Amino acid sequence: MKCHICNNETSIFTETYAGIVCHYCKNCQYIFKDPSCYQSIHAQKERYDLHTNDENDDGYRAYFQRFVDFVIPHVGSPKTALDFGCGRSTLLADILKNIGIDTDVYDPIYHPENRYDSKKYDLIVSTEVFEHLHQPKEVFKSLLACLNPNGFLAIQTQFHPEEEEAFQKWYYHRDPTHIVFFSPKTFRVLADIYRCDYLADNGKNMVIFQKR
Ligand SMILES: [Zn+2]
Repeated sequence: MKCHICNNETSIFTETYAGIVCHYCKNCQYIFKDPSCYQSIHAQKERYDLHTNDENDDGYRAYFQRFVDFVIPHVGSPKTALDFGCGRSTLLADILKNIGIDTDVYDPIYHPENRYDSKKYDLIVSTEVFEHLHQPKEVFKSLLACLNPNGFLAIQTQFHPEEEEAFQKWYYHRDPTHIVFFSPKTFRVLADIYRCDYLADNGKNMVIFQKR
């Protein structure tokens, strides 16, 4: 199968936790589970409804604060932002609003009402979303199109360990709704394809791009 990011030929291996066939692209290091295991949005919602994200939980707030603390020094003073794929919670948007950024939320399941794609933003954030996407390349492109010139896109998703043995032990792919996995290399290839600047990553799970 061709890589869904860079279109090079992939190799396959089977992850041993659930026995799912995965495709690995040597060129861009993208790993994706075989599309035959992708779930409908209805089945995904049943799982997401089990998530108990309590907005008053100090740990949950601190989790978003770490993301904000990484992103803000790189992005100047954005006036507007979108939290793409926020889930049920608007906590990250609330944190951004508290530092003076007018922030919209969009989530296909819980907050579908905002037609974000007719707007332009200075900053788009997306945390723990990209690993769920069937076609992340298309979503990446569509988000860039919603940025003002020189706007920023900041993504949080766990970077996969490159070695297969480490991947097998990795907790992150065991969630059946986590279907695609990136490394910094994958994101650099995406940045090249869509001619945006790869600004920074934290070596673990956060990456920031700037639109040219
Ligand atoms: Zn690839």
